[in-house]
Amino acid sequence: MQLIIISGKGGTGKTTVAASFAYLEDKSIKVDCDVEASNLHLVLKGDDIERHDFFGAKTAKIDPEKCQKCGECEKACRFNAISDFQVDELKCEGCGACTVVCPYQAVSLDDDLTGETLISKTGKGYLSRAEMVIGAEGSGKLVTEVRKIAGQYKKNNEPFILDGSPGVGCAVMASVTGCDAALIVVEPTQSGLEDFLRLLSLIRFFGVLPFVCINKYDLNFDVTCQIERVCREEKVPVMGYIPFDSTVQRAINELKPVVCYPKSKAGRQIIMIWNRLNERIKEEIKK
Ligand code: SF4
Ligand code: SF4
Repeated sequence: MQLIIISGKGGTGKTTVAASFAYLEDKSIKVDCDVEASNLHLVLKGDDIERHDFFGAKTAKIDPEKCQKCGECEKACRFNAISDFQVDELKCEGCGACTVVCPYQAVSLDDDLTGETLISKTGKGYLSRAEMVIGAEGSGKLVTEVRKIAGQYKKNNEPFILDGSPGVGCAVMASVTGCDAALIVVEPTQSGLEDFLRLLSLIRFFGVLPFVCINKYDLNFDVTCQIERVCREEKVPVMGYIPFDSTVQRAINELKPVVCYPKSKAGRQIIMIWNRLNERIKEEIKK
């Protein structure tokens, strides 16, 4: 079973929920798909036991010795990345058109280092994550690699808990595809509601079962009611409501999952959401 915790944008409490679930389910394999700002490892702690460079992009390179300055590559490049028989690395998309048209085989495509994948052994199981090179592109490919590596650590029937990338871009698609269920963490603001609807259509497009939890629901009861209404209309089960609780900030400062404070208002609710969600997913899978 692969469960992803996801949100329409960063800062909605997604990692607070994901870290708590990862902590509660010892046997799970944890995957941090937020490759541009991974932080699950800070909360779950542990030692890195595997580390690999990841080359997720390509850049064209012109060999001045072979180039006959015919200009064919510049004409073929749709990204205006070639001028004066030189490639602008920042503009090159690695499409390879220049390599095809060059009559003198003077252009090659070089692999670009876009990130590093890591496996950490935590007190609560393995965590697969990545660190993306600043300014690099291709976060979706890196997410796919992080998930692939996590799969290699599956021994029996361990569930996967994924901390998804925020938003609705290519990294999110790479995070969501192949998952069984998604818990969408929504905050009660108008933009939160709109982000949720966009994300919901993406999750449904990929055939993933959607569930919702409303974080800091008590900060805006009107929008919380609107989210509930939308969930009813869209037939998305609301698994629970996390109240605003200063313990969450305390847990972040102490680098602990908030469920380490099981008597706190937020910790208690997240434990209830986790139990409820597990039951619902089991029921849905049986159908
Ligand atoms: S690989 Fe594509 S984008 Fe890059 S220089 Fe060649 S044609 Fe342009
Ligand atoms: S197509 Fe090849 S030979 Fe012609 S300008 Fe480009 S690199 Fe040089």
